[in-house]
Amino acid sequence: MTGYKEFHRRSIDDRTGFWREQAALIDWQTPASKVCDFSNPPFAKWFAGGRTNLCHNAVDRHAAQRPDAPALIYISTETGQERTYSFAELKREVERTAAMLRGLGVGRGDRVLIYMPMIAEAAFAMLACVRIGAIHSVVFGGFAAGSLATRIDDARPKVMVTADAGMRGGKAVPYKHLVDEACRLAQNPPERVVIVDRGIDVGFPRVDGRDLDYATLRAHHLNAEVPCEWLESSEPSYILYTSGTTGKPKGVQRDTGGYAVALAASMKHIYCGHEGETMFSTSDIGWVVGHSYIIYGPLIAGMATIMFEGTPIKPDAGIWWSIVEKYKVSVMFSAPTAIRVLKKHPAELIHKYDLSSLRSLYLAGEPLDQPTHEWIMGELERPVIDHYWQTETGWPMLSAMPGVEQTRIKFGSPSFPVYGYDLRIFREDGSEAGANEKGVVGVLPPLPPGCLSTVWGDDKRFVSTYFTLFKDPQVYSSFDWGIRDEDGYYFILGRTDDVINVAGHRLGTREIEEAVQGHSAIAEVAVVGVNDALKGQLPIAFAVLKDASKGETAEQRAALEAEVMKTVDGLLGAIARPGRVHFVSGLPKTRSGKMLRRSIQALAEGRDPGDLTTIDDPTTLQQIKTALGG
Ligand code: ATP
Ligand code: MG
Repeated sequence: MTGYKEFHRRSIDDRTGFWREQAALIDWQTPASKVCDFSNPPFAKWFAGGRTNLCHNAVDRHAAQRPDAPALIYISTETGQERTYSFAELKREVERTAAMLRGLGVGRGDRVLIYMPMIAEAAFAMLACVRIGAIHSVVFGGFAAGSLATRIDDARPKVMVTADAGMRGGKAVPYKHLVDEACRLAQNPPERVVIVDRGIDVGFPRVDGRDLDYATLRAHHLNAEVPCEWLESSEPSYILYTSGTTGKPKGVQRDTGGYAVALAASMKHIYCGHEGETMFSTSDIGWVVGHSYIIYGPLIAGMATIMFEGTPIKPDAGIWWSIVEKYKVSVMFSAPTAIRVLKKHPAELIHKYDLSSLRSLYLAGEPLDQPTHEWIMGELERPVIDHYWQTETGWPMLSAMPGVEQTRIKFGSPSFPVYGYDLRIFREDGSEAGANEKGVVGVLPPLPPGCLSTVWGDDKRFVSTYFTLFKDPQVYSSFDWGIRDEDGYYFILGRTDDVINVAGHRLGTREIEEAVQGHSAIAEVAVVGVNDALKGQLPIAFAVLKDASKGETAEQRAALEAEVMKTVDGLLGAIARPGRVHFVSGLPKTRSGKMLRRSIQALAEGRDPGDLTTIDDPTTLQQIKTALGG
């Protein structure tokens, strides 16, 4: 085995040879005539001329070899349901759903919008779409009617698949009502809505002539055989909107062949998941992690994948680890925010279970602070791999790659550029930054296979959004700040719009947050820049205490505030010292666990907090307001 450096170098210098080898990890009906067609930069067509099918690679080829091996493990701690589908059973269900969609007139290139809770039928629907060449657009079930309507109008689906309701923390979350409302708001609502009736929202309204029952349709297609449609590699597999943390969501368009190869290769080199093993990603199918590492990635690798409907703390904070024990999970994927939640519970809930099957835990989605990284790696006693990527890329950009070389983990760092990405740190003038110099994370095109091929329906927006930060060279901009240390390890310092300017000094909010977390009483913190007549901007911190009882009185809070400021002074210097440290019991985040810094900042500057349809807990905003008023 070659080491990481050589592996990465070859992926850039001998792009064609490298990716031709990786392409052999999947089945092709017709092999590609050209590995990368980059004749129209920055658009890249991977495996041009090749024909393949995602569903074939994820389901059929395994069903043929190992029909009885587990494929999809559905666990709901909300309804108490638990069921394992073998590859043969999964294939049958997918064919039934595919026949259903075809019966409704859905064909190659048509869009199907999937607005569903974490139930097995959601996976069937996604796989059924790619099987027949239809393009799915999964919208996270937490989005409100308005956000759903915008996505309906952008994707213009022929059919929508939904459920009566979801469940969260024991409470029913209505889906069908929201779908009806969204269809009323949308300019181009779908012709048909198929509903999985879970019996949660009894008597939900039905629209005659439009609404259809999933179980009834399925019963008509029990013996359906629907062959896979062979698609040209660059035909779209799906559209997925970015979370919208930083503004109007963009419809990321994914291809077919490049994506399948990228995922297959990542399962081998990054996640090291093998046929017959089990992967557990705690995300949701509404996010990119759900697409790549609940559905397609593990299945392409012939692994069983766990689809979990529930929260990490119910019935108690040991639930995930009990699942790891029961299903012998070997690869696990989660987000820092969830680990910070677990950190507030006794570690005994981890140690109670036999975790010997688990090789490593991967985390992504937001910065993983050092203390949390150290804590979870200490408790699990195995590698916890921070890795960095975006909806746009579909798979990791920065990561350790244990399948290539076992490299040392540095706390707080997502390690190195992944093969295929010519990733660098750029100064604002487009020149390359040196070691320990802060800059923007960029990638020299072509982007590797699996990354977005364009913005759905808007090639101009693809170019103008991602490829115009620097005039020369043409670089894909991540809109994240990063830094590379002298050992070649990268660190993500936050988003480019999360940078604040204090008296002419540019500071990443992440750096200040890390410094605030250097104080042992702090569990979590958000730092935002607030307009200041004197300094331009002033950092203001909103912190959550590990032990709320330590900040009950005004004196306690004042003492802590002074200590935190001192900690920041010591770590970063007085220039980064927050003007105020407010104590709250929770921070506003999206349902995917990302901090809504823009909303916090707006409140701190007395402005409207903006679109909050994805906020997880609205009471957190009230707390910010109260803290600011006090
Ligand atoms: P939008 O682009 O619509 O504002 P979003 O950027 O929140 O939404 P995602 O694509 O889900 O949507 O998130 C990707 C972003 O998450 C990255 O650009 C980065 O800011 C952050 N991120 C992901 N992984 C990491 C990580 N390991 N460390 C630090 N930040 C991360
Ligand atoms: Mg983004």
